[in-house]
Order: sequence, then C-alpha cells, then structure tokens
Amino acid sequence: MRKLIFLLAIVISVQDLSGQYFGRNKPRYQHFNFEVLETPRFDIYNYSLEPEILTFLAKDAELWYAYHSQTLDHDLTTLNPIIFYNNHAEFQQTNAISGGIGVGTGGVTEGLKNRVVMPVTFSNQQTHQVLGHELVHAFQFNIILGGDSTSMKSLANIPLWVIEGMAEYMTLGREDPYTAMWMRNAILNDNVPTLEQMANPKYFPYRYGQTAWALLAGTFGDHTLKPFLVETGKYGMEYGALQAFGVNLDNLSNIWETGLRTHFEPYLRDQKESDIGKTLLSSKNSGKLNVSPALSPNGRWVTFLSEKDLFSTDIFMADARTGKIERKLSSLVKDSDLDNFNVLESSGTWSPNSRQFAFVGFSKGQNILVIKDIKNGKTKKNIESRVFVLLLTLHGLPMEKRSLSLALLMENPISMPLISEQRKYGS
Ligand SMILES: [Zn+2]
Repeated sequence: MRKLIFLLAIVISVQDLSGQYFGRNKPRYQHFNFEVLETPRFDIYNYSLEPEILTFLAKDAELWYAYHSQTLDHDLTTLNPIIFYNNHAEFQQTNAISGGIGVGTGGVTEGLKNRVVMPVTFSNQQTHQVLGHELVHAFQFNIILGGDSTSMKSLANIPLWVIEGMAEYMTLGREDPYTAMWMRNAILNDNVPTLEQMANPKYFPYRYGQTAWALLAGTFGDHTLKPFLVETGKYGMEYGALQAFGVNLDNLSNIWETGLRTHFEPYLRDQKESDIGKTLLSSKNSGKLNVSPALSPNGRWVTFLSEKDLFSTDIFMADARTGKIERKLSSLVKDSDLDNFNVLESSGTWSPNSRQFAFVGFSKGQNILVIKDIKNGKTKKNIESRVFVLLLTLHGLPMEKRSLSLALLMENPISMPLISEQRKYGS
C-alpha cells in the first residue's frame, strides 16, 4: 500500500541553488569511499554497490536521458554527476546537499551542478522512477538556467505543479492508479482547481500536476512541455499558455477541468458510497494522519503511525475491534536511540503469535530493526543492519513464508549485501 503523505515528497532543491555549505549541521556516521563509473552522459558515484547493479543503474540513467532529451528537445550542456547511496539511511548523511534530508525525500537534484543525489530504493521499479523523475529536474534546470532569456529568477514564476507534474508525467506516464484515486476524490468532493488555483499547496502538485500534464500534453502533444515551462518562466502562466498552447489561461484551464470531469465522472455516476465495516481510527479518536496500518495475525490488534500527540509521528497500537488505543508502542521521545521511523519503505510486521511487533527505524545513519513486546511496549531487541529495508518486500508474502523469512533474517541479519537480500526475498 502506498502511503498518503510520506511518499509524496520527492523534492527538488531550489534552496540549494544559492550556495553550498557542505556538511553543515548534518550528522555523519560513516565514511564513504566513492568511486566513479563514467558513462557517455554521466559520472555515476557510489561506494559499494555490486558492479552489475551499478551497470544496471548506469544503463537506466542513459535510457532516461535518451527519452527526456527527445521529449524536451534538449541536450544537457554539462557533465552530469549522479550520486547513488545504497539506502535511505546512508542517503540522509550526504554532504553533497546542504539542508537536512527527511524520511520523505526520495531524491534531490541540484540546479547549478545538475547533480542528482538519491538512494537506491527498496524496489527496482521505484529506483527507476525516482531516477527518471530527478533527471527530468536536471533537464528543467538546464533548460531554464542555460536559456537565453531565462535565469534563476524564472524558476519563481513556474508553479510547482508544472515542475513536479512534468517529472511525474514523464516517468509514470498518463495513467497511474494512485493519481486516479486522488482525482476521483477531487471530483467526488467537487474540488477541482483551476490551473491558477493549483499553485496552492493544498492541491498536491505531484498528483494534480501529473494529471494536468496527462490531459494537456495528451490533447496538444508532448511538444508543449518545454515551451510552457520556458515561457511561463519568462512571464508567468498566462503568457506560457498563449505561447505554448495558443489559448489564454482561462481557456486552457477550462480544457483541463472539463477533460478531468469527462474522464472520471462516468466512473462515479450512479455509484452510491456505502462504507463496508466501521471506522476504527479517525481524527475523533486519533490523529488527522493515521497511516501504515498492520493487523496482527490473530486479528486483535492494529498498529499504525499517527501524529496524534502533536510532537512527532509515533507508532500506536489499537484494539482492532473497537479502535480503542491501547498504547503508544514506540515514539522518538521514548526510544531515544531512534532518529526516525522508516515510514517510507516499511510499515512493520507482526510475529506469528501476535505478541511482538517489528519495524524499521533509523539510528545513527543505519536502518535498524526494532522488536517490541506488545504487552508493555518494551524493546526486546534492536538489530543493526543495512538489510532491513527488505521487510517491506515480505509484506507481499503469505504469513507463514513471511515469518520464516523474517526468522532467517534475524538469525543472521548481515550475512548478505543489501541488493542480494532484496533479490532473494523479494522474488
Ligand atoms: Zn521532483
């Protein structure tokens, strides 16, 4: 299951354009000996990935380059470094970016250096998409910053939905079930923004932007992507609409709104909403944000992440029949050795007897596996290892196999390098 908020933040790093202060205020726990793999278009940096994985990533970067270059009718004018970290915990320690990197940051592209910095994620598909997404930003930056009549200032004229939506559209394509869910919800609630209103951050730029581009580029052609970006950068969206699409912004917005409704309304017509079951957890008895539920095998308990207690997002455990919250199973205050939960890649898993709950957290630059006794919320074990991001892949397995895999893993948690483990358990 994809999670509502945390998957959303694949960011571009505009604030990093103004200057670099390497390593400032960022804890680093490990030293990485980077080596470079040169490809026709990229310098690919990494410290310990297996050569075949690195070759695979290099080919992927070249493929994306070919695709983006053709779609945007542009070639990057500078050499392009891509820095791969082996996992998110190690990515968070990067000193290539000055600001802090949160759990929800999928990757970062630096404008001035055309440099992509990202982790290898828990699935090839996600790594592929994040890489493609960040490389769209590398093209966007290069087009705007290298343009005759555009500059750094032009970036401020371009709404985020144009930038992020383009990166999502060019990597996910026109149809994406997750985005479609957002759009059906917008129509159900009669909350379809105009293109101008879409600049309001309450309309999540990745999802609305992807749909807007699917519709506009689908109607007018992909050749509108680049001119709309450039012309909007010069004088704003009104000018961009006229130059790239030949219509004014109101008309363009009508095309978007009508197109969206025409596409999705048939799916919703005559469909009555009737909830199955009952609401267990909502803002009435928990936080506004309640995500990553994991049901215990005996059906008694459900764990979930929530910002219920305001100060941080914690792991709670509730009665799965009544929704009554039994206890806070883990919090960053209580478990002070944890820097964060790895909510992006794992929601945790139960032991077969429903007495223990295991989840992945970040601690001192590493993924660690935390095992909690649910009776008292005490930590039974912290296991440090790079390999626990694969817990997520276990979720797709039947319960018996999952616990078997987990048991194997716990017996010898660092016997294999990350990628081999992923391949072994994820296949
Ligand atoms: Zn982005």
